[in-house]
Amino acid sequence: MNYEDKIARQVAAIPRSGIRDFFELVQGRDDVISLGVGEPDFATPWGIREAAIYSLEKGQTSYTSNLGLPALRRSIARYVEGLFGVGYDPAGEVLVTVGVSEAIDLALRALLNPGDEVIYHEPCYVSYSPSITMAYGTGVAVETKKSDGFSLKPEALAAAITPKSRVLMLNFPTNPTGATASRADLEGIAKLCIEHDLIVLSDEIYCELRYDEEDHLSIASLPGMRERTVLLHGFSKAFAMTGFRLGYACAPQPVIEAMMKIHQYSMLCAPIMSQMAAIEALERGLAEVERMRQSYQQRRDFVVRRLKGMGIDCHSPGGAFYVFPDIRKTGLDSKGFAMQLLEEESVAAVPGTAFGPSGEGFLRCCYATAFEDLKTAMERMEAFVGRLG
Ligand code: PLP
Repeated sequence: MNYEDKIARQVAAIPRSGIRDFFELVQGRDDVISLGVGEPDFATPWGIREAAIYSLEKGQTSYTSNLGLPALRRSIARYVEGLFGVGYDPAGEVLVTVGVSEAIDLALRALLNPGDEVIYHEPCYVSYSPSITMAYGTGVAVETKKSDGFSLKPEALAAAITPKSRVLMLNFPTNPTGATASRADLEGIAKLCIEHDLIVLSDEIYCELRYDEEDHLSIASLPGMRERTVLLHGFSKAFAMTGFRLGYACAPQPVIEAMMKIHQYSMLCAPIMSQMAAIEALERGLAEVERMRQSYQQRRDFVVRRLKGMGIDCHSPGGAFYVFPDIRKTGLDSKGFAMQLLEEESVAAVPGTAFGPSGEGFLRCCYATAFEDLKTAMERMEAFVGRLG
């Protein structure tokens, strides 16, 4: 059978994840140190794991409310209010999802009509552009620059807005650059969103993992923005719970209701044992988050120092657990650098182009890797860069 005309056009049109393609090359090679996969190297803190085990022991193996367990939604609303200073009603303004991944998909599908434009800043998380396409939207990438610390500048956003613009996606701290957003920039962005009646999807999945002085500021907390923001957050990164597949969206009730309709027919609910574990995470897991954050901070400082020491230009990212060094001076492009580093020194890092064309000339290194491995990876990278001259 010819399957080419059997696959939906918008699915055939999207590329496979560049990260995945690259990491298939690494499969089965024990000698490789991977700075590739964007997930914590910590196992989920024991108390959280125990809550999941206990929920199974108690025989909690059922569906939950489509929105998520009421107790979890109450914990989320309390946590979000404490962290972001924005209040949400757990009865109808919080939706528990299968990871932030599902929340992104639901929000786009709930908000877009075919052909609506969605603006996002790039380099960005690999799922944004394909998720927009699969929701029949048109993605509009705005390049962020190293000279701006990869933050989105209001002027750049203003230039991308058209009468078709409907949604703006934000992700601070950013995967892959670790960028954070200043209050002034967020205020400028908020002003434009209000002027042009845009809805903001704010993916703040890395917000606990910040390393410099200033507090995290959510755009939802700025005047006039709560009503036009869908705040996305989850447990994968700060709580080291990637395998639990749990995230959530907070937004005004009509938006949550629309997202819930898709969720109830496509997913039904998030797994109950993950939800029980998440309650434990929010109620008693924060000391562990802080311990992990400090460990990432030490590793960030080490990696940035070592990269600079070998003559590679690298800004010090304010959040997440990635560095995004500029490798243009080496004369190699992103893919060439990553492939050669893998072949010659058995160190795997992701070419910046996996995060959109504006990642050309950069490399994403995830430093959520054992310290000893990071040290060896930096030694190997130094040898490699030294040979390039
Ligand atoms: N958003 C960003 C910016 C991410 O980096 C990731 C995972 O890497 C996700 C969302 C997906 O997270 P989850 O595991 O909650 O689906």
